[in-house]
Amino acid sequence: MNDMDLNEKIRRLILDSNTFLLATHIRPDGDAIGSILAFGLALKKIGKEVTILLPEGIPQNLNNLPGNHTIVKSIKPAEEYDVIACVDASDQERLGELLVGKKIDLQIDHHITNVMFAEINFVDPKAVATCAILAEYLPIWKLQIDDQIATLLLTGILTDSIGFRTSNTSSKALRLAADLMDYGADLPSIYQEALVGRTYQQVNYWGFALQRLQKHGNIAWTTLTLADRKQADYNGNDDADLNTLLSSIAECEVTILFVEQKEKHVKVSWRSKPGIDVSQIAFDFNGGGHFSAAGADIHGELSEVQELVLQKSFASIADQSKSQEIK
Ligand code: 5GP
Ligand code: MN
Repeated sequence: MNDMDLNEKIRRLILDSNTFLLATHIRPDGDAIGSILAFGLALKKIGKEVTILLPEGIPQNLNNLPGNHTIVKSIKPAEEYDVIACVDASDQERLGELLVGKKIDLQIDHHITNVMFAEINFVDPKAVATCAILAEYLPIWKLQIDDQIATLLLTGILTDSIGFRTSNTSSKALRLAADLMDYGADLPSIYQEALVGRTYQQVNYWGFALQRLQKHGNIAWTTLTLADRKQADYNGNDDADLNTLLSSIAECEVTILFVEQKEKHVKVSWRSKPGIDVSQIAFDFNGGGHFSAAGADIHGELSEVQELVLQKSFASIADQSKSQEIK
């Protein structure tokens, strides 16, 4: 389908429907929160009834965003909504248990590993963030951007590009960000609140993982356990953005973080320097993501998951390096 047909389909869907359920991925990040709230506010502005589902709430560093009070943690039966739409999720399992097996009418996403699970799939892997897609296309779908929506969209662009420094940062992303500033988004304050500011608990939590940091060749890895979370009094279930810190290790091509979750379940994150693809490694573990930033939820004890993931990651990275030498 070409862009025109796709945009026309989305315009029609919006115009012809009244009630919208919006969802995004579990452990939502800045792009997930920015895009769900921005899409929700834009639909509300034209009189639609919108339910913004965020079962885990909003992480602390994003808690002051416009629209944060309109979210809900539970929903009516999914069939009662005219449209179920989701943002920033590359497969349906990522939407969490409330939407298992439900028909998803529309998805907007930018992950290269997206499995096209919705009726209408607007997926652009070149976009730096799902929020960048919305910044470009909301007006084309006849939805307006105001200062609040611009703030939300710039939050997603800034957090997913880690302040315009991931390798997929493009001049287009910068132009869209500049447009959002013209709509009233305050870049320095978003930068400070969403990206730079840390809580004491968060930094303390990192400390436990940093003590266990290991390196072999050009790969470094570490773990965050449930006991660390408790001791640091950290109340999130995510990596507290430790991945960004790990990825700053200059001599490592790949960093891997294992975050222990409840019930024999480990969240694994990979980060890589340009030239090494970690999305495929994550995909092979039923996860997904981007070329240089990917993740997977894996069942098993921390130590066994760690052993298996390290083994597969070392093998894949060695293969990739070999095929680059041949070229
Ligand atoms: P993170 O490591 O920060 O959780 O995620 C890095 C990237 O990979 C993000 O774009 C995120 O959406 C994606 N990702 C993380 N975990 C999973 C997963 O379990 N499944 C899929 N499909 N994508 C994931
Ligand atoms: Mn994203």
